[in-house]
Amino acid sequence: MPDLAVPLIEWYRRNARDLPWRRPGFGAWGVLVSEFMLQQTQVSRVIPRLDAWLARWPTPTELANDAPAEAVREWANLGYPRRALWLHRAAVEIRDLHGGVVPSDVGALLSLTGIGDYTARAVAVFAYGDRHPVVDTNTRRVLARAIGGQAQPGPPARSDLAAMEALLPEDRTDAAIVNAATMELGATVCTARTPRCDACPIAHACAWRAAGYPATADTRRKQARYDGSDRQARGAALRALRDAAASGIRSDELLDAWPDALQRDRAITSLADDGLIELVDGMARLPR
Ligand code: SF4
Repeated sequence: MPDLAVPLIEWYRRNARDLPWRRPGFGAWGVLVSEFMLQQTQVSRVIPRLDAWLARWPTPTELANDAPAEAVREWANLGYPRRALWLHRAAVEIRDLHGGVVPSDVGALLSLTGIGDYTARAVAVFAYGDRHPVVDTNTRRVLARAIGGQAQPGPPARSDLAAMEALLPEDRTDAAIVNAATMELGATVCTARTPRCDACPIAHACAWRAAGYPATADTRRKQARYDGSDRQARGAALRALRDAAASGIRSDELLDAWPDALQRDRAITSLADDGLIELVDGMARLPR
Protein backbone atom coordinates (compact mmCIF):
# COMPACT_ATOMS: atom_id res chain seq x y z
CA MET A 1 0.00 0.00 0.00
CA PRO A 2 1.37 3.52 -0.76
CA ASP A 3 3.15 5.08 2.27
CA LEU A 4 0.54 7.71 3.07
CA ALA A 5 -2.52 5.48 2.68
CA VAL A 6 -2.29 3.68 6.05
CA PRO A 7 -2.02 6.81 8.24
CA LEU A 8 -4.72 8.55 6.17
CA ILE A 9 -7.14 5.62 6.57
CA GLU A 10 -6.50 5.33 10.32
CA TRP A 11 -6.88 9.07 10.82
CA TYR A 12 -10.11 9.19 8.78
CA ARG A 13 -11.68 6.34 10.77
CA ARG A 14 -11.14 8.31 13.99
CA ASN A 15 -11.73 11.86 12.78
CA ALA A 16 -14.11 12.05 9.82
CA ARG A 17 -17.08 14.36 10.34
CA ASP A 18 -20.45 12.63 10.40
CA LEU A 19 -21.96 14.13 7.24
CA PRO A 20 -25.25 12.94 5.68
CA TRP A 21 -23.75 11.85 2.35
CA ARG A 22 -21.22 9.64 4.14
CA ARG A 23 -23.86 7.54 5.87
CA PRO A 24 -24.42 4.00 4.54
CA GLY A 25 -27.36 3.76 2.16
CA PHE A 26 -27.48 7.48 1.37
CA GLY A 27 -27.80 6.52 -2.29
CA ALA A 28 -26.33 7.73 -5.57
CA TRP A 29 -28.99 10.41 -6.13
CA GLY A 30 -28.32 11.90 -2.70
CA VAL A 31 -24.58 11.85 -3.34
CA LEU A 32 -25.07 13.50 -6.74
CA VAL A 33 -27.29 16.27 -5.32
CA SER A 34 -24.89 16.87 -2.42
CA GLU A 35 -21.93 17.17 -4.81
CA PHE A 36 -23.79 19.75 -6.93
CA MET A 37 -24.59 21.77 -3.81
CA LEU A 38 -21.10 21.47 -2.31
CA GLN A 39 -19.35 22.72 -5.46
CA GLN A 40 -19.31 26.34 -4.27
CA THR A 41 -21.17 26.35 -0.95
CA GLN A 42 -20.10 25.49 2.62
CA VAL A 43 -21.19 22.25 4.27
CA SER A 44 -23.22 23.99 7.01
CA ARG A 45 -25.37 25.82 4.44
CA VAL A 46 -25.77 22.76 2.23
CA ILE A 47 -27.11 20.29 4.83
CA PRO A 48 -30.56 21.85 5.45
CA ARG A 49 -31.15 22.54 1.75
CA LEU A 50 -30.06 19.01 0.84
CA ASP A 51 -32.51 17.53 3.37
CA ALA A 52 -35.35 19.63 1.94
CA TRP A 53 -34.41 18.78 -1.65
CA LEU A 54 -34.31 15.02 -1.09
CA ALA A 55 -37.54 15.07 0.93
CA ARG A 56 -39.24 16.81 -1.99
CA TRP A 57 -37.55 14.86 -4.80
CA PRO A 58 -36.33 11.48 -3.48
CA THR A 59 -35.45 10.31 -7.01
CA PRO A 60 -34.14 11.97 -10.20
CA THR A 61 -37.40 11.14 -11.98
CA GLU A 62 -39.47 13.06 -9.44
CA LEU A 63 -37.32 16.14 -9.97
CA ALA A 64 -37.35 15.67 -13.76
CA ASN A 65 -41.16 15.54 -13.74
CA ASP A 66 -41.36 18.89 -11.93
CA ALA A 67 -40.76 22.29 -13.57
CA PRO A 68 -37.25 23.81 -13.67
CA ALA A 69 -38.77 26.82 -11.84
CA GLU A 70 -39.30 24.61 -8.79
CA ALA A 71 -35.63 23.59 -8.78
CA VAL A 72 -34.56 27.25 -8.91
CA ARG A 73 -37.07 28.06 -6.12
CA GLU A 74 -35.87 25.20 -3.89
CA TRP A 75 -32.23 26.16 -4.44
CA ALA A 76 -33.01 29.25 -2.34
CA ASN A 77 -29.88 31.01 -1.08
CA LEU A 78 -27.22 28.44 -1.98
CA GLY A 79 -25.69 30.79 -4.56
CA TYR A 80 -24.58 30.18 -8.15
CA PRO A 81 -28.15 29.15 -9.08
CA ARG A 82 -27.26 27.84 -12.52
CA ARG A 83 -26.42 24.68 -10.58
CA ALA A 84 -30.14 24.24 -9.84
CA LEU A 85 -30.96 24.37 -13.53
CA TRP A 86 -28.12 22.01 -14.44
CA LEU A 87 -29.22 19.57 -11.74
CA HIS A 88 -32.73 19.64 -13.16
CA ARG A 89 -31.38 19.00 -16.67
CA ALA A 90 -29.21 16.16 -15.37
CA ALA A 91 -32.30 14.64 -13.70
CA VAL A 92 -34.17 14.78 -17.02
CA GLU A 93 -31.23 13.07 -18.76
CA ILE A 94 -31.09 10.40 -16.03
CA ARG A 95 -34.84 9.79 -16.42
CA ASP A 96 -34.77 9.71 -20.23
CA LEU A 97 -31.44 8.02 -20.96
CA HIS A 98 -30.67 5.92 -17.87
CA GLY A 99 -34.06 4.61 -16.76
CA GLY A 100 -34.17 6.95 -13.78
CA VAL A 101 -31.01 5.48 -12.21
CA VAL A 102 -27.89 7.61 -11.65
CA PRO A 103 -25.23 5.97 -13.84
CA SER A 104 -22.12 4.53 -12.19
CA ASP A 105 -19.79 4.81 -15.17
CA VAL A 106 -17.53 7.89 -15.16
CA GLY A 107 -18.01 8.44 -18.92
CA ALA A 108 -21.82 8.33 -18.60
CA LEU A 109 -21.69 10.65 -15.58
CA LEU A 110 -19.47 13.10 -17.48
CA SER A 111 -22.04 13.29 -20.27
CA LEU A 112 -24.70 14.63 -17.87
CA THR A 113 -25.31 18.38 -17.69
CA GLY A 114 -23.29 20.19 -15.03
CA ILE A 115 -21.02 17.25 -14.19
CA GLY A 116 -17.26 17.62 -14.54
CA ASP A 117 -14.21 15.57 -13.64
CA TYR A 118 -14.60 15.97 -9.90
CA THR A 119 -18.33 15.25 -9.56
CA ALA A 120 -18.28 12.28 -11.97
CA ARG A 121 -15.52 10.56 -10.02
CA ALA A 122 -16.97 11.51 -6.63
CA VAL A 123 -20.29 9.81 -7.54
CA ALA A 124 -18.58 6.72 -9.01
CA VAL A 125 -16.37 6.34 -5.91
CA PHE A 126 -18.54 7.48 -3.00
CA ALA A 127 -21.91 6.17 -4.26
CA TYR A 128 -20.81 3.06 -6.15
CA GLY A 129 -17.45 2.17 -4.56
CA ASP A 130 -15.46 2.23 -7.82
CA ARG A 131 -11.74 2.92 -7.79
CA HIS A 132 -10.78 6.32 -9.26
CA PRO A 133 -8.79 9.33 -8.03
CA VAL A 134 -11.13 12.08 -6.74
CA VAL A 135 -9.55 15.52 -6.61
CA ASP A 136 -11.15 18.64 -5.16
CA THR A 137 -9.62 21.93 -3.97
CA ASN A 138 -8.78 20.49 -0.56
CA THR A 139 -7.11 17.44 -2.08
CA ARG A 140 -5.04 19.63 -4.38
CA ARG A 141 -3.76 21.64 -1.44
CA VAL A 142 -2.73 18.52 0.51
CA LEU A 143 -1.00 17.08 -2.57
CA ALA A 144 0.77 20.38 -3.28
CA ARG A 145 2.14 20.53 0.26
CA ALA A 146 2.78 16.92 1.23
CA ILE A 147 4.09 15.72 -2.15
CA GLY A 148 5.03 18.87 -4.05
CA GLY A 149 6.58 20.90 -1.24
CA GLN A 150 4.54 23.96 -2.29
CA ALA A 151 2.54 26.26 -0.01
CA GLN A 152 -0.44 26.33 -2.41
CA PRO A 153 -1.41 24.29 -5.47
CA GLY A 154 -1.01 25.61 -9.00
CA PRO A 155 -3.98 25.88 -11.39
CA PRO A 156 -6.03 22.65 -11.75
CA ALA A 157 -4.36 20.22 -14.18
CA ARG A 158 -4.81 16.65 -15.47
CA SER A 159 -1.65 15.77 -13.52
CA ASP A 160 -3.66 16.21 -10.28
CA LEU A 161 -5.52 12.97 -11.08
CA ALA A 162 -2.25 11.10 -11.64
CA ALA A 163 -0.81 12.47 -8.39
CA MET A 164 -3.86 11.25 -6.46
CA GLU A 165 -3.90 7.91 -8.27
CA ALA A 166 -0.34 7.31 -7.00
CA LEU A 167 -1.62 7.48 -3.40
CA LEU A 168 -4.46 5.00 -3.85
CA PRO A 169 -4.28 1.42 -2.58
CA GLU A 170 -5.41 -1.36 -4.95
CA ASP A 171 -8.38 -2.31 -2.77
CA ARG A 172 -11.49 -0.34 -3.85
CA THR A 173 -12.79 0.27 -0.34
CA ASP A 174 -9.42 1.45 0.93
CA ALA A 175 -8.98 3.62 -2.18
CA ALA A 176 -12.36 5.30 -1.56
CA ILE A 177 -11.35 6.02 2.04
CA VAL A 178 -7.99 7.50 0.97
CA ASN A 179 -9.83 9.80 -1.46
CA ALA A 180 -12.25 10.90 1.27
CA ALA A 181 -9.50 11.18 3.89
CA THR A 182 -7.33 13.43 1.72
CA MET A 183 -10.28 15.75 1.06
CA GLU A 184 -11.19 15.74 4.75
CA LEU A 185 -7.61 16.46 5.80
CA GLY A 186 -7.54 19.49 3.51
CA ALA A 187 -10.93 20.69 4.78
CA THR A 188 -10.22 20.35 8.50
CA VAL A 189 -6.44 20.18 9.18
CA CYS A 190 -4.37 21.24 6.17
CA THR A 191 -6.41 24.39 5.65
CA ALA A 192 -5.37 27.17 3.29
CA ARG A 193 -4.38 29.73 5.93
CA THR A 194 -3.52 27.85 9.13
CA PRO A 195 -2.55 24.21 8.66
CA ARG A 196 -2.49 22.32 11.99
CA CYS A 197 0.54 20.18 11.30
CA ASP A 198 0.66 18.94 14.91
CA ALA A 199 -2.66 17.12 14.24
CA CYS A 200 -1.72 15.83 10.79
CA PRO A 201 -1.34 12.07 10.24
CA ILE A 202 1.13 12.54 7.37
CA ALA A 203 3.27 15.27 8.94
CA HIS A 204 6.24 12.87 9.07
CA ALA A 205 6.20 12.63 5.25
CA CYS A 206 5.18 16.19 4.29
CA ALA A 207 7.61 17.74 1.81
CA TRP A 208 6.54 21.33 2.54
CA ARG A 209 6.97 20.87 6.29
CA ALA A 210 10.37 19.14 5.82
CA ALA A 211 11.56 22.08 3.70
CA GLY A 212 10.68 24.57 6.47
CA TYR A 213 7.41 25.88 4.93
CA PRO A 214 8.92 27.97 2.09
CA ALA A 215 6.58 30.61 0.67
CA THR A 216 5.65 29.84 -2.93
CA ALA A 217 3.57 31.77 -5.45
CA ASP A 218 -0.16 31.78 -4.69
CA THR A 219 -1.98 31.41 -8.02
CA ARG A 220 -5.44 30.79 -6.57
CA ARG A 221 -8.20 32.91 -8.06
CA LYS A 222 -9.50 35.47 -5.58
CA GLN A 223 -13.24 35.48 -4.93
CA ALA A 224 -14.71 38.69 -6.39
CA ARG A 225 -16.49 41.06 -3.97
CA TYR A 226 -20.21 40.31 -3.65
CA ASP A 227 -21.54 43.66 -2.40
CA GLY A 228 -22.34 45.92 -5.35
CA SER A 229 -21.62 43.13 -7.88
CA ASP A 230 -23.76 41.87 -10.75
CA ARG A 231 -24.04 38.62 -8.77
CA GLN A 232 -25.76 40.52 -5.99
CA ALA A 233 -28.22 42.06 -8.49
CA ARG A 234 -28.87 38.65 -10.05
CA GLY A 235 -29.48 37.18 -6.59
CA ALA A 236 -31.95 39.94 -5.71
CA ALA A 237 -33.88 39.47 -8.98
CA LEU A 238 -34.12 35.72 -8.48
CA ARG A 239 -35.20 36.14 -4.86
CA ALA A 240 -38.01 38.47 -5.96
CA LEU A 241 -39.16 35.95 -8.57
CA ARG A 242 -38.97 33.03 -6.15
CA ASP A 243 -41.26 34.95 -3.80
CA ALA A 244 -43.66 36.00 -6.57
CA ALA A 245 -46.60 34.10 -8.06
CA ALA A 246 -45.84 31.64 -10.89
CA SER A 247 -46.94 34.28 -13.43
CA GLY A 248 -43.93 36.38 -12.34
CA ILE A 249 -43.41 40.13 -12.14
CA ARG A 250 -43.73 42.80 -14.81
CA SER A 251 -40.19 43.00 -16.18
CA ASP A 252 -40.05 46.80 -15.83
CA GLU A 253 -40.96 46.41 -12.16
CA LEU A 254 -38.38 43.73 -11.39
CA LEU A 255 -35.67 45.37 -9.24
CA ASP A 256 -37.09 48.80 -10.22
CA ALA A 257 -35.56 50.33 -7.07
CA TRP A 258 -32.07 48.93 -7.76
CA PRO A 259 -29.60 51.85 -7.47
CA ASP A 260 -27.76 51.15 -10.74
CA ALA A 261 -30.16 50.83 -13.70
CA LEU A 262 -27.47 49.58 -16.09
CA GLN A 263 -26.45 46.89 -13.64
CA ARG A 264 -30.09 45.93 -13.13
CA ASP A 265 -30.59 45.51 -16.90
CA ARG A 266 -27.35 43.56 -17.20
CA ALA A 267 -28.41 41.22 -14.37
CA ILE A 268 -31.84 40.54 -15.87
CA THR A 269 -30.44 39.98 -19.37
CA SER A 270 -27.79 37.58 -18.09
CA LEU A 271 -30.35 35.61 -16.03
CA ALA A 272 -32.47 35.23 -19.17
CA ASP A 273 -29.38 34.23 -21.23
CA ASP A 274 -28.59 31.55 -18.61
CA GLY A 275 -32.15 30.20 -18.78
CA LEU A 276 -32.75 31.03 -15.11
CA ILE A 277 -35.63 33.37 -15.93
CA GLU A 278 -37.97 33.83 -18.90
CA LEU A 279 -39.01 37.19 -20.32
CA VAL A 280 -42.43 36.73 -21.95
CA ASP A 281 -45.04 39.36 -22.90
CA GLY A 282 -43.58 42.03 -20.63
CA MET A 283 -43.35 39.60 -17.68
CA ALA A 284 -40.31 38.06 -15.99
CA ARG A 285 -40.82 34.63 -14.44
CA LEU A 286 -38.92 31.50 -13.39
CA PRO A 287 -38.51 28.92 -16.22
CA ARG A 288 -41.42 26.54 -16.82
S1 SF4 B 1 2.13 18.50 7.71
FE1 SF4 B 1 0.98 20.40 7.70
S2 SF4 B 1 1.28 21.25 5.64
FE2 SF4 B 1 1.88 19.09 5.56
S3 SF4 B 1 0.05 17.99 4.87
FE3 SF4 B 1 0.01 17.98 7.11
S4 SF4 B 1 -1.18 19.81 7.72
FE4 SF4 B 1 -0.61 20.03 5.56
